[in-house]
Amino acid sequence: MDTLFLEYRDPIFGVIIFFAIVFIIAFLNYWWGIFKSKEERHSISQFIKRFEVMADADEYKKLLEEFNISSESLGLLAYSYSKSGEYEKAIGIYLIALKRVKNKEEKQYFLFQLGKVYFKAGFLRRAADVFLELLKLFPRHKEALKLLTVIYEQLKEYTKALEVMDSLEELDVEVESEKNFVKALQVLNDSQKTNQNRYETLLQLTKKEPLIGRILFEFAKKEGLDIDMDLVDAKSILDLLWQSDIRFLKNSSQMLAKAVLAAKEGSSVPQGAPFELEVLSALKKQDYTNATVGFEYACTCCKNVFPVHFYRCPSCYTLKTPHISLLLIKKENEEHYTF
Ligand SMILES: [Zn+2]
Repeated sequence: MDTLFLEYRDPIFGVIIFFAIVFIIAFLNYWWGIFKSKEERHSISQFIKRFEVMADADEYKKLLEEFNISSESLGLLAYSYSKSGEYEKAIGIYLIALKRVKNKEEKQYFLFQLGKVYFKAGFLRRAADVFLELLKLFPRHKEALKLLTVIYEQLKEYTKALEVMDSLEELDVEVESEKNFVKALQVLNDSQKTNQNRYETLLQLTKKEPLIGRILFEFAKKEGLDIDMDLVDAKSILDLLWQSDIRFLKNSSQMLAKAVLAAKEGSSVPQGAPFELEVLSALKKQDYTNATVGFEYACTCCKNVFPVHFYRCPSCYTLKTPHISLLLIKKENEEHYTF
């Protein structure tokens, strides 16, 4: 027994005990680390699973409905979804926000935003219904009236579009160009009219609104009718002139039409002709035929550029003749620039 006590008191025994304790602590720490990391991994996976469930549209809506989120916050959230093109989510949130509106101003704001999102998402009929609901409460809402005319125009409900324009006129909004444009579309789509009726109406409308000259030119070209080329501004049909027969070009006294003809024939271009047409004419003279032109269309209002022609800008919905730019390209790339 005495020997044992003596051995306990031995300094080497103490050192051994010390290292044993250090080892046990280190082992426990290591084991605890593994346990914790497993637990965290499990917890994160559970967390992600919750969001996977939330990603479902109904669950998402349920969550927003359950929490007491203010209509202002819902408005901001919906607006950011709408900006990033997530229209379905934006619509869902605007609908929830509409249930929580506190006053008429908020109702006006959310109804207008909801109508806009439906319109952007391509749900034209729903957008029209929302704007009509808004106009019941706020009949002088100019922006809603303007978008409603665009919707009816796209739905080919021209009589309704003209009625809405009458309301805008009563509110001192200038809609003369829009009215003439819708009348041009109306006559083109009216199966009761003869081609001669259509041509004459388009001609009269072109005299009032130059933008319709392009519609008249396209109609005449399609139906093989003769047209006074000087009635239509060559700048607004530059791309169509490039695709036209030489006989159309020869009938125009406008410089741009002459320049297009020169570029096609390799003859001298008139002064002030676009550089691209001048180059094409020079190349043609050298029998180089591997070059051509493509076109781009820029909205003069919002400056956005599109590869196809438009009467009404697809971005800002302004009705204006786009600026048509020429692009000198290799013939093999022609299909990318011709729509
Ligand atoms: Zn625009």
